[in-house]
Order: sequence, then C-alpha cells, then structure tokens
Amino acid sequence: MLKFETVIDLNDHLEKLRKEGFKIGFIPTMGALHKGHLSLINRAKEDNLISVCSIFVNPTQFNNPDDLKNYPRTIEADITLLESVTCDVLFFPSVREIYPHPIKTFFNFGRLETVMEGAFRKGHFNGMATVVNRLFEIVKPDFAYFGEKDFQQLTIVKMLVKMQSLPIKIIGCETLREEGGVAMSSRNIHLSPKEREDALIISQTLFKAKELAKTMTAQELKSWAINNLTTNPSSELEYFEIADAETLQPISNLKASTSKIRAFIALKMGKTRLIDNLEL
Ligand code: AMP
Repeated sequence: MLKFETVIDLNDHLEKLRKEGFKIGFIPTMGALHKGHLSLINRAKEDNLISVCSIFVNPTQFNNPDDLKNYPRTIEADITLLESVTCDVLFFPSVREIYPHPIKTFFNFGRLETVMEGAFRKGHFNGMATVVNRLFEIVKPDFAYFGEKDFQQLTIVKMLVKMQSLPIKIIGCETLREEGGVAMSSRNIHLSPKEREDALIISQTLFKAKELAKTMTAQELKSWAINNLTTNPSSELEYFEIADAETLQPISNLKASTSKIRAFIALKMGKTRLIDNLEL
C-alpha cells in the first residue's frame, strides 16, 4: 500500500493511474478502522477499482470540542488493517493540507439536514460536506463508498454530488455488525464491557421494530421503541425516528408510504454517543 500525506504527491500518483486507464474507488474515513470500514474497501476492490482510503479526523464536523479531542486515533493499527485487505492507497493528510485557506463554503441541504443528526449536532453536516467536497476535489474518484450505518450522511453526500454536478457515483454499503447485532463503530472502543452489553438494546430494538411494523401503526411502534430504549438509567435516548428513506422526513402512516421506510436511533451509552438504523 502506498501512503501519501500531501495533495501534490497523491495527485501525481493518481494522475499516472488515470492515464493508464484505471478507475478510482474512494473510501473516506476518520480512522480507528474496523471491519465495517474494511468492507467498503473490499467493495471497491470487488468493483475492480484502485482503492483509495483517506484517514482524516475532520475538525469542522465536530460540534463538541471534547468529542474531537477524544476521537480514537490508531494510525499504526489502521495501516496494518488496510494492508490486510490490500488497500492500494492511503491518504493521511494534516489539517493544514486539507484546509490551507479559511473555509468559505456553506452548504444548504434543506429538510435533509434539519432532522435527526442535523437537529442534534448543529453544523455537523455542513462540516461533513465541506470535507467530503474537498476530498472529492483532491481525489477525483469515479466511485465513492459510504456506509448505511450513517444513513443520513449517505443521503446528504448523494445530494452534495447532485448539487455540485460531480461525476462521482456514490455507493451505499450495508452496516456490518458485531456478533449479537451491535453496529461496528470506531466509538465502540470507548464502551465498558457493561455498556457494550447494554448497547445491544439499540440493534435489538431496530430488528424487533422491523417485525412489529407489520402489525403496528407508526405511533404505536414509536411509543413501544421509545419505551424499550429508555428503561436503562445509564443510557440517554436522543431520538427514535421512523422516516422516509429518501426524504428522511418522519412518517406517520406506515401503510400509506410508497417509498422505503427506515427506523433511526441515536442514544448515549454513558458518555459514548451511538447511532444505528435499519430498513423496516
Ligand atoms: P467514519 O470513520 O466513522 O467516518 O466512517 C467512514 C465510513 O465507514 C462511513 O461511510 C461510514 O458510514 C462507514 N462505516 C462506519 N461503520 C460502519 C459499519 N459498521 N458498517 C459499514 N460501514 C461503516
């Protein structure tokens, strides 16, 4: 695997590959890699692309300075994992390399960003879109891979590509889960063994909700799920939402909806904020 820290060096390498006719598959991450991340790299490789993974903990998408400070950084282990799946290129830039000038871009994703993560993490999606747009400008991928684990992010990235008329195909990939069902996440490192056990309630609620959606109304389902998610005093539910998978707007009638529906959860387990979602 080749590793680059500067835009110039990365560009030189990718330009040569493009001239030789190779297509580029890009997987942006914030590091602390796990099998979920590796599944995206494997997808790019299955699609016969040059896999380019970036590791960049983007300061502009954190609304909480402590969250940014405590975000896990495990670059040596990340490199070993990337090499284990024969990732082709790692881009590991500094903040100055990504943001050499003051940031002036401001994105408006309308109603997609006023709900759920957008409502609870002010400015998060503008920061995320700023860095993804900048990384797209640097890497110029043909395809980019994002996890459904961050479904709202995936939807907003698809909108970003449309808004900027970028010639990039966005591929959404299924969430990889631990045995038992907990969605793999870099933040799981922070969970104590007891919290890890307690976190099972998130995926269990989602999978049970999928079953109950066949017989319950949206209101009944929401009350049941909220009840289920608020019994543990050491966790704090931020939201349980049933929403249209395209518009991300809350659904009040499960039967009347013509598009796909997903359930979304954000919950703090002790100090660790966890999110997950599932198609119903
Ligand atoms: P992050 O490093 O958390 O910014 O994630 C980088 C990419 O990996 C994003 O597109 C995530 O949605 C994706 N991702 C994170 N966790 C998982 C998972 N458990 N399964 C599949 N993709 C994931």
